[in-house]
Amino acid sequence: LLRADGTIAATVFAEMSALATRTGAINLGQGFPDEDGPIEVLEAAREAIASGANQYPPGRGVSALLESIARHQRRFYGLEVDPGTEVLVTAGATEALAASILALAGPGDEVVTFEPYYDAYAGLVALAGARLVTVPLRWPTFSPDPDELRSAVTDRTRIILVNDPHNPTGATFDATTRELIVDLAHRHDAVILTDEVYEHLTFDRPHVPISTMPGAWERTITVSSAGKTFNTTGWKVGWLIGPARLVTAALTVKQFLTYVNGSPFQPAIARGLDLSDRVFDDIASSLRDKRDLLTSGLRSAGFDVSIPAGSYFTVVDAAPLGFDDAESLCARLPDLAGVVGVPVTAFVSTGSRASYRSLVRFAFCKRLPVLEDASARLAALR
Ligand code: PMP
Ligand code: GLN
Repeated sequence: LLRADGTIAATVFAEMSALATRTGAINLGQGFPDEDGPIEVLEAAREAIASGANQYPPGRGVSALLESIARHQRRFYGLEVDPGTEVLVTAGATEALAASILALAGPGDEVVTFEPYYDAYAGLVALAGARLVTVPLRWPTFSPDPDELRSAVTDRTRIILVNDPHNPTGATFDATTRELIVDLAHRHDAVILTDEVYEHLTFDRPHVPISTMPGAWERTITVSSAGKTFNTTGWKVGWLIGPARLVTAALTVKQFLTYVNGSPFQPAIARGLDLSDRVFDDIASSLRDKRDLLTSGLRSAGFDVSIPAGSYFTVVDAAPLGFDDAESLCARLPDLAGVVGVPVTAFVSTGSRASYRSLVRFAFCKRLPVLEDASARLAALR
């Protein structure tokens, strides 16, 4: 990533947000909401700062948050989790993934994931010195082929890295796929590392954590992030949950990555996780309205659209509009339509780019008038 001239290659998200700022285009590239989440959560952070929660908190996390995470697991998923040994608070989901991968995988090990994948996965697996092995998710359903999954997982596999709901495609896994993953993890003695940051952003049915599948708990680390649920992406409060031996392994790495994190934000997110079911329903239903608005706008504009079941992203095919190369389309999109999107090739390894060449990811975690404006602008592409 370090170039000969001393500059570094920015992530696609930083690059696309810079493009939006430079051109004044509507930023449907990097996924972050354009309005605040529940007021109770914001107030709780202010109160925590005012009451002096401003020094290093415990390494595992503030006890109020550890306990709220355990209550949240019981309320939504019926899982009994010990807040003292089976939960770890992290600097966003990113640190939870980093600590887990660095703790469990090294040179000679393989990490199996689904492609396209969130860009940090390849970077973190490379930092660990391990090898990334991918299973394709193909347009338009983005569900894995069971035989391809079976042949990707071997005795070299240390981690099966799952992302459900999935970024960038918005797909969710069905029970058959979840069962197959658990079965393969058992057969090859692998750990399931599951990134479920969009757990509350689902539109058709409630999220089912893979850790609730029979036989999964003892070999699964589940990762989530308050940033997605409560529109606090800048607070970087995430966590991981799993059996004590796996959580301890991640903690050994975390103590040298960040040591501890964000003391006033932790009790605030604890307040958020304890909010009523109604608040969580509203979060999902307001996002569903946004999904429906943008996906119908994109369809009217002439794209083929894959309707996401979760997350705040939709993937479209630009080929019907005559654009076969999404990378060049995305570079010109601010000029052509005043909108920024991300080419899906940014989420795949070099050898797989051809299969995703004409696909673009748009984020819909924006206010309805912004999505209306973006849809009207994109209609000009025809
Ligand atoms: N995993 C996925 C799938 C994501 O989309 C994101 C957010 N971009 C992250 C992890 C990182 O989350 P956080 O900001 O909490 O580190
Ligand atoms: N998760 C967000 C996305 O996929 C933002 C990630 C980031 O900026 N690193 O767009």
